[in-house]
Amino acid sequence: MKPPRKLHIKSYGCQMNVYDAQRMVDTLEPEGFVETGNPEDADLVILNTCHIREKASEKVYSELGRLRALKEEAARRGRRMNIAVAGCVAQAEGSEIIHRAPVVAVVVGPQSYHHLPELLARAEKDGRALETEFPAEDKFAFLPPPKPDVIRARGVSSFVTIQEGCDKFCTFCVVPYTRGAEVSRPAGRIIDEVTRLAEHGVREVTLIGQNVNAYHGEGPDGRIWRLGTLLHRLAGIPGIVRLRYSTSHPRDLDETLIEAHRDVPAVMPFVHLPVQSGSDRLLAAMNRKHTADDYRRAIDRFRASCQDIAFSSDFIVGFPTETEEDFQATLALVTQIGYAGAYSFKYSPRPGTPAAELREMVSAEEMDERLARLQELIDSQQSAFNKAMIGKTVDVLFERSARNPGQIVGRTAYLQPAHVMASPAIVGRVLPTKIESLERYSLLGELAAPEHPAAVTEQASTPNETRMGA
Ligand code: SF4
Repeated sequence: MKPPRKLHIKSYGCQMNVYDAQRMVDTLEPEGFVETGNPEDADLVILNTCHIREKASEKVYSELGRLRALKEEAARRGRRMNIAVAGCVAQAEGSEIIHRAPVVAVVVGPQSYHHLPELLARAEKDGRALETEFPAEDKFAFLPPPKPDVIRARGVSSFVTIQEGCDKFCTFCVVPYTRGAEVSRPAGRIIDEVTRLAEHGVREVTLIGQNVNAYHGEGPDGRIWRLGTLLHRLAGIPGIVRLRYSTSHPRDLDETLIEAHRDVPAVMPFVHLPVQSGSDRLLAAMNRKHTADDYRRAIDRFRASCQDIAFSSDFIVGFPTETEEDFQATLALVTQIGYAGAYSFKYSPRPGTPAAELREMVSAEEMDERLARLQELIDSQQSAFNKAMIGKTVDVLFERSARNPGQIVGRTAYLQPAHVMASPAIVGRVLPTKIESLERYSLLGELAAPEHPAAVTEQASTPNETRMGA
């Protein structure tokens, strides 16, 4: 039997890249590859790239420079190392990578990584292989399922991609160009994947997609299912106690999703709903296709359906032409909504997007100053939200041993890390936990009930008794 070949994947960016990296491992495992955390040992290194980052392609080329040194060192020791570039920079740059970085053997876009074994074979024969088309076939239908021990090793919480691509064309965003048009996976395949994950220890699933609430996959009944219907069905899979989804667009809210938050206890009351700006003028310039009031109404619909729901969001500061008045509208929106947390970034142009053509840039000083003011406001909201947990008993899904000996760490419904002193036997269980203090962003507490096997699951608890309002 041939010794296993070692595979190292360095993944950048979003949750979908984390999921894709795992599926690349699953794809290459039947070819005799095993994962290693150490690139020096690897026979194959894959850079799973992200185009959202500023100067993304330059960073990939500089990382490839470092890998070339590793490859040369491996060759000196009589070992062959292959290098592949996957993900959104691979899609956007394509043959440019082949020209600029001869060290790269394979370039593969995010819709084609199920072809990695063939591409590696082609590179072996021809020296290089490139695939950045959007193939007509559904890659998910070709990906081998992960083995039970691999699922267990990945932990109790798992991502599952249900939708890819985006038709919205926000003027600052590269996703419609790198991931293509919106495509939803058939619901039956998602149900099968989640069932398999649950059979091997997964308790929480986060359904992911660039525009996840635009989900419109074919259901086993032949009808088109929306996200809310899918959440209802997945909640019935034995072992699944928590469901989340990310990332949503305010325009794609439909009643099935709102109802799922009201009717399905496994659907966590924490929603990431990006808005980007509170200024209608800028929202139009960004081609967001909604106003600040549309966004407020979307939040109101969730809140009317689920009283303990909380929100996070994304904000861009310093989009071209942003005035102080526009920025004040963003601050006013944040103040009005009250977030449990949010991500905020300074605008930076992405090559190939319409906004990259805009010339009326906000100065670097103004951007810095506005970002600091926005982050101060968001931090104060997050801190107040976390502090309000102290003294409450909340459900925590325990995930793993913490770095401190004897401590186990889990997450609340709002994704706050929560630490208790307990035995590792509680990993994979949802237990009511009395929160006693806060250490930066982590909650510290103790189990509110003895650690016996009959302790509560999320479905058995009454949501509004153990969760707090936003
Ligand atoms: S909706 Fe999201 S993924 Fe789609 S173009 Fe806009 S920012 Fe990009």
